[in-house]
This record gives sequence, structure tokens and C-alpha cells, in this order.
Amino acid sequence: MNENTQRLIELDKRYLWHPFTQMADWLSCTPVVIESGEGFYLIDTDGNRYIDGVSSLWCNVHGHRVKKIDDAIRAQLDKIAHSTLLGLGQTQAIELAEKLVQIAPAGLEKVFYSDSGATAVEIAIKIAYQYWQNTGRTEKTKFIALKEAYHGDTIGSVSVGGMDLFHGIFKSLIFKTYYAPTPNPYRFEGTPAQCAKNSLEAMEAILKRHGEQIAAIVVEPLVQGASGIIVHPAGFLKGVEQLARKYDVLLIVDEVATGFGRTGKMFACEHEDVHPDLMCMAKGISAGYLPLAATLTTQTIFDAFAVSGDIHKTFYHGHTYTGNALGCAAALASLELFEENKILETMPEKIDLISQYFERFAELPHVGDARQCGMIGRIELVKDKQTKEPFPSQDKIGAKVCAAMRPKGAMMRPLGNVIVLMPAVGMNIETLTQLLDIIEETLEEDLMKVITAQTKFL
Ligand SMILES: *Cc1c(COP(=O)(O)O)cnc(C)c1O
Repeated sequence: MNENTQRLIELDKRYLWHPFTQMADWLSCTPVVIESGEGFYLIDTDGNRYIDGVSSLWCNVHGHRVKKIDDAIRAQLDKIAHSTLLGLGQTQAIELAEKLVQIAPAGLEKVFYSDSGATAVEIAIKIAYQYWQNTGRTEKTKFIALKEAYHGDTIGSVSVGGMDLFHGIFKSLIFKTYYAPTPNPYRFEGTPAQCAKNSLEAMEAILKRHGEQIAAIVVEPLVQGASGIIVHPAGFLKGVEQLARKYDVLLIVDEVATGFGRTGKMFACEHEDVHPDLMCMAKGISAGYLPLAATLTTQTIFDAFAVSGDIHKTFYHGHTYTGNALGCAAALASLELFEENKILETMPEKIDLISQYFERFAELPHVGDARQCGMIGRIELVKDKQTKEPFPSQDKIGAKVCAAMRPKGAMMRPLGNVIVLMPAVGMNIETLTQLLDIIEETLEEDLMKVITAQTKFL
């Protein structure tokens, strides 16, 4: 470790508070400090290179230091970095809004910008709530979400979240939400179809009893990310849409993690021809460059707010950096790269490659479940494959296994006992193969060694 690394680690420990981190553990670890990136690699302050296996927390799309995106941001910097959307238009925000409406599922016609996934969801919830107020159905004030859902960390998005470990402590701060069980095929006794049906029936039971009070159903489409990359059974999302229509509630789809190609299509909704009333985008929207998010909505919802002279129907919400010009410029360049590099067309080959590896992973002794949705993969490690008994969470098996991949050149981040595979969708076959080889080697050769290691890991 060079002197500069040492100095930075010391300063980090003195001044920083890291997200989602037990800082007491952090202080006793030796963190990696990233200095730069190149393509699909992260480079630390000692010059070590790692494949960015979770695309810098699920947001990088085309790699790091991509010329076209870098140039677009620089060109915008020569014009203006930021101006407000309160009372003013802005070139990049306008151009991007048109593009987003073009690529989003039909029916979504208006774009409301913000700066993170949590705010995109917060905005969707508030728009859904106010939509019913504005249209005279004032009793429709509640939401339905999935148990173990994750929609971000602001109070509103936590209120529709269902992860006890993250959200339990705040329960007296958050509003009441109805929860339907997560359709998790690995932890369900029965077929995937029965698993979907079970959750849909529970959701319908809530709607039958409380439908009159429900403003919207909020779901992560196809894959529940933060709760451990739970891949829903086919048909579940369509079933949710049908319930929303049947009981006259809005459908909010949180595509923050799944959007921009991750599932093999531009948006997860497309797999089941689902047309939500509100859709949340963030993470990949700016190719992982800058904080940018958008909430898209239908003309019908927009019209319930756009009432001339009625100040009570206005949507009073906004953030200072709403529609930031640099972020929008990056997003526009990213969408051009989707076309130029034929990202969606070249993805089936990569998705097949992941499948081939995952079939082998599933045979390994401590791999309970190896499942994928497009370019998103989950490898759940279990203590007992037969009974599906999990490793105790305090053993930090996922973190240990990921740490063992670092010296081999892969930067991964688990969710509990689940090894998450989330490469940039633009990653080339060679790099993706290297990444999968590192995962395979670690799972095959080192797993027992890693599991029993006494070393401290975050
Ligand atoms: C990451 C994530 C969020 C929150 O996004 P932030 O930008 O971290 O606020 C919301 N929903 C889903 C599905 C996510 O994966």
C-alpha cells in the first residue's frame, strides 16, 4: 500500500460516514479507495484493477470514461452546468424528456425529473395520492406494496418499502401500507405459477377489502433488487396490472434498478406488455455518471393537475437540481450509445453466457439458488442445500466470498448471502467471461476456506 493510499484511508476513517455501513466495522477494515476507471474496470490508489461486477451499484451502463458521454458532458459544461426548471426551460432536459417518452411503454407521456431513485418513487407516490384528491376520490390515500420491497430511503419511499432490517426502526415515522407477499420462487413450496398466484390472491384480498381506499400499487417489475435479487415468476407483473385495472387503482412501476437494458429489454415492463400509470427511472438513466431520475406519467394523470387557475391542483414538489443539464446531457449520449452500439441486440449472447455459467453454479454444494433475469444474476449461498437453511447473517458469508474475489480482480458487492451479478449492460463478452470465471473459481475452490476464515469483512 503506498503512502497516498494510507493517507486517504486515514482521512476516510476520520471524516466519512459511509452509506448502509456499520461504521464500527468499517473502522477496523482496510478499505479499497478508487481513484479512476477505465472501460469496465475500477482502478484503486495502488493501481490495482478490478472488473466492476455490480456496475458501481447497478447504475453504470456503457463502462467508465466512455468518450461519447465524457464529450457530451464537456460540451454541455461549455454552455451551462445547471439552471433551474422552476419557471424556465432547459435545452437538455427538454430533449431528454422527448427521448424518454419515446422509449417508455406507450401511454407514458410526461416526464417529471428529480435526482435519485428514492425521489423518483417519492414523486410517484405523491402524484398518485394527489391525483385522487384532485379528481374528488379523496378516500383513496393508501398504497399496496410487496413485502421485502425496496424503493429507496426517503420517508415516503421507506413507507412503501418492506425490508424490516432497513425500515423497522422507522415504523412510527412512516405511513401505513398494505403488503402482499413477495413471490419468491426459491422459498416457495410449489411451482412458480402457484407462487405467482399465491401473491396475486393475497393482493386481491387486500383490494377486495380496502380497494376503495387504495391510491396505487407500487412494484419493482420482474426483479426485487435490494431484498436479494428476487426474480418473480413469469406472469406476476401482468397479474398485478390486471388487478390495478380491475379495482381502479393506479400502478406505479419502479424501474430504478431494472430500467435501461438490465433485464434484456429497455424496460422490464416490456416483457409482459405492462403499461403503468407511473414509472420511476434512475440508476442507469445517466449511464451511471451523474445523479438524475425521472418519474413518467400518463396524460390522464397530468390532466388532473393541469387545471387553469386552480392553484390547489398544482403539484408542489421540486428539487433544486431537478433536470440538471449535465445529467441530462449524459443521459442523451447514453441513449445514443444504446443505438450505436446496438446494446439491446447484442445482449442475448451475453445473457446466454451468464445462463451457461449459472447452470454450473447451481450444481455447487453451497449454492441454493442460481437464477437470472437478463443481465441480472443472483447466487444464493446456503448452509444446507437440501433444507435451504441459510447461513447465519452474522457470518457475513456473502461479504467474505466477494472479498475473496478482489485479489482475483473482481469488485462485487453482495446482499446478505446472495452474490449479486450486475455487470454493465454494455460489458463486452471477454470481460464478462473473465468476471464469470472469477466467480466460478471462487465458488468452486475457495468457498469452504472463505467460509471458515476468521478475517474481518464488512
Ligand atoms: C436503488 C433503488 C432505489 C433507490 O435509488 P437511489 O438512487 O439510491 O435513491 C429505488 N428503487 C429501486 C428498485 C432501487 O433498486
